[in-house]
Amino acid sequence: MLNVPAIFASNVFNDQVMRTRLSKAVYKQFRRTIDQGEPLDMVTADFLANAMKEWAIEKGATHYTHWFQPMTGSTAEKHDSFITPSPNGMAIMDFSGKALVKGEPDASSFPSGGLRRTSSARGYTAWDPTSYCFVKGGSLYIPTVFVSYTGEILDKKTPLLRSMEALSRVAVRFLRIFGNENVTRVTTTVGAEQEYFLIDKAMWDQREDLILTGRTLFGAKPPKGQELDDQYFANLRPRIAAYMADLDEELWKLGIYSKTKHNEVAPAQHEMAPIFTTTNLGTDQNELAMEVMEKVALKHGLVCLLHEKPFEGVNGSGKHNNWSMSTNDGQNLLDPGDTPMENLQFLTILCALIKGVDEHADLMRLSAASAGNDHRLGADEAPPAIISMFLGEELDAVLQAIEDGTAYRTQVREFEIGVNALPSFPKDSTDRNRTSPFAFTGNRFEFRMVGSSDNIACPNFLLNAIVAEELSWFTEKLEPFAGTEGFERAVKDLLREVLQKHRRIIFNGDGYSEAWVQEAARRGLPNYASTVDAMPHYTDEKNVELLSKFGIFTPDEVKARTEIHLEKYSKTLRIEARTMVEMARTQLIPATLRYVRELCDTLALKKQLGYSAFTEDELARKLSDLADAFYISAQELEQRVNRACEVKEILEQARFFHDHVLDEMERMRTISDTIERIMPRDLWPIPTYSEMIYNV
Ligand code: ADP
Ligand code: MG
Repeated sequence: MLNVPAIFASNVFNDQVMRTRLSKAVYKQFRRTIDQGEPLDMVTADFLANAMKEWAIEKGATHYTHWFQPMTGSTAEKHDSFITPSPNGMAIMDFSGKALVKGEPDASSFPSGGLRRTSSARGYTAWDPTSYCFVKGGSLYIPTVFVSYTGEILDKKTPLLRSMEALSRVAVRFLRIFGNENVTRVTTTVGAEQEYFLIDKAMWDQREDLILTGRTLFGAKPPKGQELDDQYFANLRPRIAAYMADLDEELWKLGIYSKTKHNEVAPAQHEMAPIFTTTNLGTDQNELAMEVMEKVALKHGLVCLLHEKPFEGVNGSGKHNNWSMSTNDGQNLLDPGDTPMENLQFLTILCALIKGVDEHADLMRLSAASAGNDHRLGADEAPPAIISMFLGEELDAVLQAIEDGTAYRTQVREFEIGVNALPSFPKDSTDRNRTSPFAFTGNRFEFRMVGSSDNIACPNFLLNAIVAEELSWFTEKLEPFAGTEGFERAVKDLLREVLQKHRRIIFNGDGYSEAWVQEAARRGLPNYASTVDAMPHYTDEKNVELLSKFGIFTPDEVKARTEIHLEKYSKTLRIEARTMVEMARTQLIPATLRYVRELCDTLALKKQLGYSAFTEDELARKLSDLADAFYISAQELEQRVNRACEVKEILEQARFFHDHVLDEMERMRTISDTIERIMPRDLWPIPTYSEMIYNV
């Protein structure tokens, strides 16, 4: 039997290990770095490195690697062995503080969005001591940030760390106004529910589209999809259960609190949710979890698909980003609490979020924008592309009362809002609304737009930046009243003013309905349907101002990120379109023509014999016409891709792909799917949807 507490975090160099492996003095010095941000001196670093090395070697490691999160969308690692020559021609295992703290990988092959010329290739990785080192596959992994020689940031972790610092600074000052004298640090927390698909590896091997793009570019819908709702929370089939058990074990060893596992809505779709932790660690762990999910699948003869839309016609996968803030004295700032003063604090924070999300809906939207996620958002399976907030009936009524300046009546008692007795909201005072992109769920917000394969750093640093901005706005307004008699009055007045202006962002109804699209337009809420509509707003003046104000990005860095995202969009579509053309020409059209030939042969033979050949005649004509259309579409698609590649300006190119390539891809797929439905199963060269999603 698995002894979970014994294996938990057994591959992590965490606080527990440090206490036993470091001298008291070194441990204390290191904690000062973590807790108070004191720089790490080289002597301490040397002691740490040595202890880490000893520990890692005991765990089977021979190498170490600086592990970072460049703008490619996956993590990066380069492994160095601990080996050092000894004078007698032998080897010793050595690891210095310098090697722990800093690395110098060649940065020239990572996306930088024009920030760094290829000629100046040097990049630095620097250890982020706030995230734990761990051992995996024979290497000691050191979580690091990644910056260029000249200091521009080239990764996703640095802005996240910066946003957490900024938010903490601002939030501590904000909390003072409400009498929180002991809070010295506010940390953002995240729990990322991760959706994924599992299919048989043998099926995957036969699908070039899955191999090259992560999603099926062809495939007729099977007779049965998810209409029976018989997969969600369904009992786990043995192979899936075995996979999940193995996955849990691997995640636990890496110190990831994998908590929940279940079948999701679509056939072959599942979910893993960990217990929340600090955003920094949560982001690292989510990246790690995705990697482990893929690797464990292979051991079971399965492939784990993390793409946002691997199969058309059934739900795609997302990543619910549960977000909150907690203080070092143990308060969850989004917990409504039960004392009046805390409620006033909570309501102010809530209004700060309302104001922030309304003012920066574009940033929230673009934080979840990608070619893959474009297939999900607004397709009645995930939130629409319109940002709104769900608060639930009770909270909404409380805010309405503040806005109207009236008393809020509950079944239990009546009170004057914001003065003496604000309600205590039971944890489940909010209902669930699965259609809302940004929903209050009792003690946190759940941002549901994020794509399943995304790194969660981006949505979180943008959200942190937005909240930092708003908390500092509220602080400026309210600080003069702090500790005065007029304080509560001032808070109430300010909240009323904010709500009157920003109430439009709150929507508790059905986010999938057409009526909401119309209503949102009436309210003036932006609806950026695709990545190419959303992404250019990154560089809007107000957004650049916000990000540079808190030292998260320079204006150049914002521009660079925008370009990287748009380039990635174009490249993704280019690869997808070319994969379609190739599969059409080398697999699907030849298969169709072979069948036409077979039909014609039979037709001729039957005619000679004087038989009726009605079916052959019908099918041959139909398929012959479809094959022509298929061929022409492949020609057309190829030309359009070539034209797109000639467009030089980055945004224009992405738009070209969106406007002209995507629709030809869809046309071509429709032709192919029509053919697939009438082709004999044994002649169709790639596995069908039924074979892929119903055979595990
Ligand atoms: P559901 O699917 O019902 O929304 P799950 O249990 O699948 O709920 O996931 C909820 C997620 O929210 C978990 O990862 C949980 O740890 C996380 N969560 C709970 N409290 C907080 C918090 N204060 N901050 C961030 N995440 C939280
Ligand atoms: Mg869930």
